[in-house]
Amino acid sequence: MVSLLARAFRTIGKFSLATMIGTGLLAGDVLAQHTTPSPGSAKAVFGAVTLPSQGPPQSIGFYAKGCLAGAVALPADGPTWQAMRLSRNRRWGRPETIGLLERLSRDAAKNDGWPGLLVGDISQPRGGPMVNGHASHQIGLDADIWLTPMPRRKMTVEEREALPFITMLAKDKFLTINDKVWTPAHARLLMRAASYPEVERIFVNPAIKKKMCETWTGDRSNLGKLRPEYGHDSHFHIRLRCPPGSAGCTGQAPVAAGDGCDKTLAWWFTPEPWTKPKPSTKPPVKPREVMVADLPKACQAVLAAPPAASARAAAQATKDASGSAEPDNAPLSGNTPPGQIPQQ
Ligand SMILES: [Zn+2]
Repeated sequence: MVSLLARAFRTIGKFSLATMIGTGLLAGDVLAQHTTPSPGSAKAVFGAVTLPSQGPPQSIGFYAKGCLAGAVALPADGPTWQAMRLSRNRRWGRPETIGLLERLSRDAAKNDGWPGLLVGDISQPRGGPMVNGHASHQIGLDADIWLTPMPRRKMTVEEREALPFITMLAKDKFLTINDKVWTPAHARLLMRAASYPEVERIFVNPAIKKKMCETWTGDRSNLGKLRPEYGHDSHFHIRLRCPPGSAGCTGQAPVAAGDGCDKTLAWWFTPEPWTKPKPSTKPPVKPREVMVADLPKACQAVLAAPPAASARAAAQATKDASGSAEPDNAPLSGNTPPGQIPQQ
Protein backbone atom coordinates (compact mmCIF):
# COMPACT_ATOMS: atom_id res chain seq x y z
CA MET A 1 0.00 0.00 0.00
CA VAL A 2 2.57 2.49 1.08
CA SER A 3 4.80 1.74 -1.88
CA LEU A 4 1.86 1.92 -4.25
CA LEU A 5 0.97 5.34 -2.95
CA ALA A 6 4.58 6.45 -2.97
CA ARG A 7 4.83 5.47 -6.61
CA ALA A 8 1.62 7.29 -7.38
CA PHE A 9 2.95 10.41 -5.72
CA ARG A 10 6.13 10.25 -7.80
CA THR A 11 4.04 9.99 -10.96
CA ILE A 12 1.91 12.90 -9.94
CA GLY A 13 4.92 15.13 -9.49
CA LYS A 14 5.22 15.34 -13.26
CA PHE A 15 1.83 16.97 -13.64
CA SER A 16 0.60 20.38 -12.73
CA LEU A 17 -0.56 20.21 -9.16
CA ALA A 18 -2.64 23.34 -9.41
CA THR A 19 -4.53 22.03 -12.43
CA MET A 20 -5.32 18.76 -10.74
CA ILE A 21 -6.39 20.31 -7.48
CA GLY A 22 -8.56 22.74 -9.39
CA THR A 23 -10.24 19.96 -11.32
CA GLY A 24 -10.71 17.98 -8.13
CA LEU A 25 -12.49 20.80 -6.43
CA LEU A 26 -14.98 20.92 -9.25
CA ALA A 27 -16.05 17.36 -8.86
CA GLY A 28 -17.60 16.81 -5.43
CA ASP A 29 -21.23 16.03 -4.83
CA VAL A 30 -21.63 19.20 -2.81
CA LEU A 31 -20.92 21.24 -5.89
CA ALA A 32 -23.95 23.28 -6.78
CA GLN A 33 -24.74 22.96 -10.45
CA HIS A 34 -26.26 26.37 -10.95
CA THR A 35 -28.28 25.73 -14.04
CA THR A 36 -31.92 26.58 -13.80
CA PRO A 37 -34.05 23.47 -14.28
CA SER A 38 -36.91 23.69 -16.74
CA PRO A 39 -40.46 23.81 -15.41
CA GLY A 40 -41.73 20.25 -15.23
CA SER A 41 -38.30 18.70 -14.85
CA ALA A 42 -37.87 16.33 -11.93
CA LYS A 43 -35.54 18.81 -10.25
CA ALA A 44 -38.04 21.65 -10.48
CA VAL A 45 -41.03 19.55 -9.43
CA PHE A 46 -39.44 17.80 -6.45
CA GLY A 47 -37.59 20.96 -5.46
CA ALA A 48 -40.88 22.86 -5.13
CA VAL A 49 -42.52 20.41 -2.73
CA THR A 50 -42.47 21.61 0.88
CA LEU A 51 -44.03 18.73 2.82
CA PRO A 52 -43.65 14.95 2.71
CA SER A 53 -46.45 12.62 1.68
CA GLN A 54 -48.55 10.89 4.29
CA GLY A 55 -48.26 7.19 4.86
CA PRO A 56 -45.59 4.65 5.60
CA PRO A 57 -42.00 5.41 4.64
CA GLN A 58 -40.94 4.06 1.27
CA SER A 59 -37.71 4.51 -0.62
CA ILE A 60 -38.48 4.15 -4.30
CA GLY A 61 -35.77 3.53 -6.86
CA PHE A 62 -32.04 4.12 -6.52
CA TYR A 63 -30.00 6.61 -4.49
CA ALA A 64 -29.42 8.67 -7.62
CA LYS A 65 -32.76 8.07 -9.36
CA GLY A 66 -35.81 7.83 -7.18
CA CYS A 67 -38.01 9.42 -4.57
CA LEU A 68 -39.25 9.07 -1.03
CA ALA A 69 -42.68 8.61 0.51
CA GLY A 70 -43.63 9.12 4.16
CA ALA A 71 -40.45 11.00 5.03
CA VAL A 72 -39.78 12.34 8.50
CA ALA A 73 -37.61 15.31 9.42
CA LEU A 74 -34.54 15.51 11.55
CA PRO A 75 -35.48 18.12 14.18
CA ALA A 76 -33.36 21.20 13.63
CA ASP A 77 -31.91 20.83 17.11
CA GLY A 78 -31.18 17.98 19.42
CA PRO A 79 -28.96 17.57 22.43
CA THR A 80 -26.09 16.39 20.23
CA TRP A 81 -26.84 17.78 16.77
CA GLN A 82 -27.80 20.92 14.88
CA ALA A 83 -29.16 20.82 11.35
CA MET A 84 -27.51 23.23 8.92
CA ARG A 85 -28.72 25.35 5.98
CA LEU A 86 -32.35 25.09 7.11
CA SER A 87 -33.60 27.15 4.17
CA ARG A 88 -32.82 24.28 1.84
CA ASN A 89 -35.50 22.13 3.52
CA ARG A 90 -33.46 19.00 2.97
CA ARG A 91 -33.50 17.37 6.36
CA TRP A 92 -36.04 14.72 5.42
CA GLY A 93 -35.35 11.02 5.33
CA ARG A 94 -36.51 7.58 6.23
CA PRO A 95 -37.06 7.10 9.96
CA GLU A 96 -34.12 4.67 9.91
CA THR A 97 -31.83 7.40 8.58
CA ILE A 98 -33.00 10.02 11.05
CA GLY A 99 -32.73 7.53 13.91
CA LEU A 100 -29.23 6.57 12.83
CA LEU A 101 -28.09 10.20 12.71
CA GLU A 102 -29.43 10.83 16.19
CA ARG A 103 -27.79 7.67 17.49
CA LEU A 104 -24.45 8.50 15.88
CA SER A 105 -24.59 11.98 17.38
CA ARG A 106 -25.18 10.54 20.86
CA ASP A 107 -22.59 7.77 20.57
CA ALA A 108 -19.92 10.09 19.20
CA ALA A 109 -20.55 12.65 21.92
CA LYS A 110 -20.40 10.00 24.60
CA ASN A 111 -17.46 7.95 23.35
CA ASP A 112 -15.46 9.75 20.71
CA GLY A 113 -14.80 13.25 21.96
CA TRP A 114 -17.02 14.68 19.21
CA PRO A 115 -19.37 17.17 20.87
CA GLY A 116 -22.19 16.86 18.37
CA LEU A 117 -23.03 16.65 14.67
CA LEU A 118 -23.63 19.44 12.22
CA VAL A 119 -25.97 17.72 9.81
CA GLY A 120 -26.09 18.87 6.20
CA ASP A 121 -28.39 17.74 3.42
CA ILE A 122 -30.38 14.55 3.78
CA SER A 123 -33.26 14.54 1.26
CA GLN A 124 -36.06 16.79 0.07
CA PRO A 125 -39.54 16.22 1.58
CA ARG A 126 -40.38 13.73 -1.17
CA GLY A 127 -36.82 12.97 -2.19
CA GLY A 128 -36.09 13.16 -5.90
CA PRO A 129 -33.38 15.08 -7.72
CA MET A 130 -32.27 18.42 -6.31
CA VAL A 131 -32.01 21.74 -8.08
CA ASN A 132 -28.38 22.02 -7.01
CA GLY A 133 -25.73 19.73 -5.60
CA HIS A 134 -25.87 15.97 -5.12
CA ALA A 135 -26.54 13.36 -7.73
CA SER A 136 -27.82 11.07 -4.97
CA HIS A 137 -29.74 11.84 -1.73
CA GLN A 138 -32.96 11.00 -3.62
CA ILE A 139 -34.50 8.20 -1.53
CA GLY A 140 -33.93 9.30 2.06
CA LEU A 141 -30.99 7.02 2.77
CA ASP A 142 -28.06 9.46 2.24
CA ALA A 143 -26.93 12.15 4.66
CA ASP A 144 -24.08 14.64 4.76
CA ILE A 145 -22.33 15.37 8.03
CA TRP A 146 -19.89 18.20 8.49
CA LEU A 147 -16.33 17.48 9.52
CA THR A 148 -16.66 20.51 11.79
CA PRO A 149 -17.69 19.71 15.37
CA MET A 150 -20.89 21.26 16.67
CA PRO A 151 -20.30 24.42 18.68
CA ARG A 152 -21.44 24.37 22.28
CA ARG A 153 -24.04 27.04 21.73
CA LYS A 154 -27.13 26.84 19.59
CA MET A 155 -26.46 28.64 16.34
CA THR A 156 -29.04 31.00 14.89
CA VAL A 157 -30.76 30.20 11.61
CA GLU A 158 -28.57 32.85 9.94
CA GLU A 159 -25.37 31.36 11.31
CA ARG A 160 -26.38 27.97 10.01
CA GLU A 161 -26.80 29.46 6.55
CA ALA A 162 -23.48 31.26 6.59
CA LEU A 163 -21.04 29.04 8.48
CA PRO A 164 -18.28 28.31 5.96
CA PHE A 165 -17.17 24.80 5.12
CA ILE A 166 -13.72 23.99 6.42
CA THR A 167 -11.64 21.69 4.26
CA MET A 168 -9.48 18.99 5.82
CA LEU A 169 -7.02 19.38 2.93
CA ALA A 170 -3.79 21.33 2.98
CA LYS A 171 -4.12 24.32 0.65
CA ASP A 172 -0.82 24.06 -1.17
CA LYS A 173 -0.35 20.30 -1.43
CA PHE A 174 -2.01 17.73 -3.63
CA LEU A 175 -4.55 15.53 -1.81
CA THR A 176 -2.92 15.90 1.58
CA ILE A 177 -4.58 16.24 4.97
CA ASN A 178 -3.97 19.45 6.88
CA ASP A 179 -2.83 18.17 10.26
CA LYS A 180 -3.72 21.50 11.81
CA VAL A 181 -7.43 20.79 11.33
CA TRP A 182 -7.60 16.99 11.27
CA THR A 183 -7.76 15.33 14.70
CA PRO A 184 -8.01 11.79 16.07
CA ALA A 185 -11.63 12.63 16.98
CA HIS A 186 -12.39 12.99 13.25
CA ALA A 187 -11.06 9.46 12.73
CA ARG A 188 -13.10 8.11 15.63
CA LEU A 189 -16.26 9.77 14.33
CA LEU A 190 -15.83 8.20 10.89
CA MET A 191 -15.23 4.74 12.32
CA ARG A 192 -18.17 5.14 14.67
CA ALA A 193 -20.38 5.92 11.67
CA ALA A 194 -18.97 2.93 9.80
CA SER A 195 -19.62 0.62 12.75
CA TYR A 196 -23.40 0.50 12.29
CA PRO A 197 -24.56 -2.45 10.18
CA GLU A 198 -27.22 -0.32 8.48
CA VAL A 199 -24.51 2.01 7.12
CA GLU A 200 -23.28 0.48 3.89
CA ARG A 201 -20.87 3.14 2.64
CA ILE A 202 -19.30 6.40 3.72
CA PHE A 203 -17.88 8.74 1.10
CA VAL A 204 -14.75 10.65 2.06
CA ASN A 205 -12.05 12.49 0.18
CA PRO A 206 -9.22 10.18 -0.97
CA ALA A 207 -6.81 12.07 1.30
CA ILE A 208 -9.03 11.26 4.28
CA LYS A 209 -9.18 7.61 3.31
CA LYS A 210 -5.40 7.53 2.97
CA LYS A 211 -5.01 9.15 6.36
CA MET A 212 -7.32 6.56 7.90
CA CYS A 213 -5.43 3.72 6.21
CA GLU A 214 -2.16 5.03 7.58
CA THR A 215 -3.22 5.94 11.08
CA TRP A 216 -6.23 3.89 12.23
CA THR A 217 -4.94 1.36 14.76
CA GLY A 218 -8.30 0.07 16.02
CA ASP A 219 -10.51 -2.59 14.48
CA ARG A 220 -10.20 -2.26 10.71
CA SER A 221 -13.08 -4.51 9.76
CA ASN A 222 -15.29 -1.56 8.81
CA LEU A 223 -12.56 0.54 7.20
CA GLY A 224 -13.60 -0.78 3.79
CA LYS A 225 -16.88 1.11 4.12
CA LEU A 226 -14.96 4.38 3.78
CA ARG A 227 -14.99 4.99 0.03
CA PRO A 228 -12.72 7.56 -1.60
CA GLU A 229 -14.68 10.05 -3.68
CA TYR A 230 -14.24 13.50 -5.22
CA GLY A 231 -15.00 16.39 -2.87
CA HIS A 232 -16.04 15.26 0.60
CA ASP A 233 -13.15 17.09 2.23
CA SER A 234 -15.29 19.25 4.56
CA HIS A 235 -18.11 16.77 5.08
CA PHE A 236 -18.64 13.05 4.83
CA HIS A 237 -21.61 11.28 3.36
CA ILE A 238 -23.21 8.25 4.93
CA ARG A 239 -25.33 5.90 2.87
CA LEU A 240 -27.66 3.39 4.47
CA ARG A 241 -28.49 0.14 2.75
CA CYS A 242 -32.13 -0.42 1.75
CA PRO A 243 -33.88 -1.33 5.01
CA PRO A 244 -35.18 -4.90 5.23
CA GLY A 245 -38.58 -5.36 3.62
CA SER A 246 -38.41 -2.20 1.54
CA ALA A 247 -39.60 -3.47 -1.80
CA GLY A 248 -39.00 -0.90 -4.51
CA CYS A 249 -35.72 0.30 -3.00
CA THR A 250 -32.88 -0.56 -5.35
CA GLY A 251 -29.77 -1.45 -3.40
CA GLN A 252 -26.16 -1.05 -4.38
CA ALA A 253 -23.57 -3.84 -4.60
CA PRO A 254 -21.93 -4.31 -1.20
CA VAL A 255 -18.45 -2.88 -0.80
CA ALA A 256 -15.60 -5.20 -1.67
CA ALA A 257 -14.07 -7.20 1.16
CA GLY A 258 -10.97 -5.76 2.81
CA ASP A 259 -10.01 -2.35 4.15
CA GLY A 260 -9.76 -0.65 0.76
CA CYS A 261 -6.22 0.54 1.47
CA ASP A 262 -5.06 -0.91 -1.79
CA LYS A 263 -4.66 -0.13 -5.48
CA THR A 264 -8.20 1.23 -5.66
CA LEU A 265 -7.07 3.98 -3.30
CA ALA A 266 -3.68 4.41 -4.95
CA TRP A 267 -5.49 5.16 -8.23
CA TRP A 268 -6.77 8.41 -6.76
CA PHE A 269 -3.19 9.55 -6.37
CA THR A 270 -2.43 9.08 -10.06
CA PRO A 271 -3.21 11.72 -12.69
CA GLU A 272 -6.04 9.68 -14.21
CA PRO A 273 -8.94 10.79 -11.98
CA TRP A 274 -7.86 14.42 -12.26
CA THR A 275 -7.26 14.67 -15.97
CA LYS A 276 -9.96 16.20 -18.11
CA PRO A 277 -11.07 14.03 -21.02
CA LYS A 278 -9.64 15.12 -24.35
CA PRO A 279 -11.98 17.53 -26.12
CA SER A 280 -14.01 15.70 -28.69
CA THR A 281 -14.17 16.87 -32.29
CA LYS A 282 -17.96 16.58 -32.20
CA PRO A 283 -20.00 19.34 -30.59
CA PRO A 284 -20.85 18.43 -26.99
CA VAL A 285 -24.25 16.84 -26.51
CA LYS A 286 -26.18 18.49 -23.73
CA PRO A 287 -27.54 15.72 -21.50
CA ARG A 288 -31.32 15.58 -21.51
CA GLU A 289 -32.92 16.80 -18.32
CA VAL A 290 -34.42 14.15 -16.08
CA MET A 291 -38.20 14.48 -16.12
CA VAL A 292 -40.61 13.08 -13.54
CA ALA A 293 -41.56 10.37 -16.05
CA ASP A 294 -37.93 9.18 -16.11
CA LEU A 295 -38.11 8.25 -12.42
CA PRO A 296 -39.79 5.03 -11.22
CA LYS A 297 -43.51 5.19 -11.95
CA ALA A 298 -44.45 5.10 -8.25
CA CYS A 299 -42.82 8.53 -7.86
CA GLN A 300 -45.74 10.13 -9.66
CA ALA A 301 -48.06 8.77 -6.97
CA VAL A 302 -45.69 10.09 -4.32
CA LEU A 303 -45.98 13.56 -5.83
CA ALA A 304 -49.77 13.31 -6.00
CA ALA A 305 -50.21 11.97 -2.45
CA PRO A 306 -51.68 14.23 0.25
CA PRO A 307 -49.11 16.03 2.39
CA ALA A 308 -48.33 15.35 6.01
CA ALA A 309 -50.27 17.69 8.27
CA SER A 310 -47.21 19.80 8.99
CA ALA A 311 -43.47 19.65 9.24
CA ARG A 312 -43.87 19.48 12.98
CA ALA A 313 -46.12 16.44 12.71
CA ALA A 314 -43.53 14.78 10.49
CA ALA A 315 -40.80 15.57 12.97
CA GLN A 316 -42.93 14.09 15.72
CA ALA A 317 -43.18 10.93 13.66
CA THR A 318 -39.40 10.89 13.66
CA LYS A 319 -39.34 10.91 17.39
CA ASP A 320 -41.78 8.04 17.63
CA ALA A 321 -39.95 6.01 15.03
CA SER A 322 -36.47 6.52 16.36
CA GLY A 323 -37.24 6.44 20.05
CA SER A 324 -35.38 9.70 20.39
CA ALA A 325 -35.11 11.07 23.87
CA GLU A 326 -35.72 14.53 22.56
CA PRO A 327 -38.00 16.64 24.73
CA ASP A 328 -41.48 17.31 23.38
CA ASN A 329 -40.92 21.01 23.25
CA ALA A 330 -37.76 20.80 21.16
CA PRO A 331 -38.05 23.45 18.46
CA LEU A 332 -38.30 22.15 14.95
CA SER A 333 -36.30 25.07 13.75
CA GLY A 334 -34.69 28.04 15.37
CA ASN A 335 -36.93 30.95 14.49
CA THR A 336 -39.78 29.20 12.82
CA PRO A 337 -43.25 28.93 14.35
CA PRO A 338 -44.54 25.39 14.79
CA GLY A 339 -45.93 23.82 11.69
CA GLN A 340 -43.98 25.95 9.23
CA ILE A 341 -40.86 25.34 7.30
CA PRO A 342 -38.46 28.24 6.98
CA GLN A 343 -38.84 29.72 3.52
CA GLN A 344 -35.76 31.80 2.97
ZN1 LIG B 1 -23.69 13.80 0.11
